[in-house]
Amino acid sequence: MRLLPVAPRPFGDELLTSWQCRVACRYSSTPPQIEVWLGRPPTPMRASFRARDFQPDEDMTWRWARASRLNERDLQRLALCDLERPEDCYVTNPLDRGVCPVCLDADAEKGGDHYCRRNWAHVEAAVCEE
Ligand SMILES: [Zn+2]
Repeated sequence: MRLLPVAPRPFGDELLTSWQCRVACRYSSTPPQIEVWLGRPPTPMRASFRARDFQPDEDMTWRWARASRLNERDLQRLALCDLERPEDCYVTNPLDRGVCPVCLDADAEKGGDHYCRRNWAHVEAAVCEE
């Protein structure tokens, strides 16, 4: 089993791809490149909202969890399908999603990583709840 010695912990309200990008950044890599390294065909970043954030493959989630020494369930709960909202209640293209600069600045002030919140992907998210 391959291990990622430096892997940040996911935040409770974080989008799964946000966490994967934060991990991959530690290795000057991308999530698809990490997935190849973990022994699986990569899932493309843009073309696969369903496979990445909505209902990720269980084996791939297991590989990410094991490599990062996380509980698989803690990663699986970041999947949007766990929120019991249908897939069409989300903005699937990350380029069409809003982000909140106030929250991102607050992340930096706390000395942590910027990260994307799951509720920013909701179609009705016009302004940040914070
Ligand atoms: Zn905000």
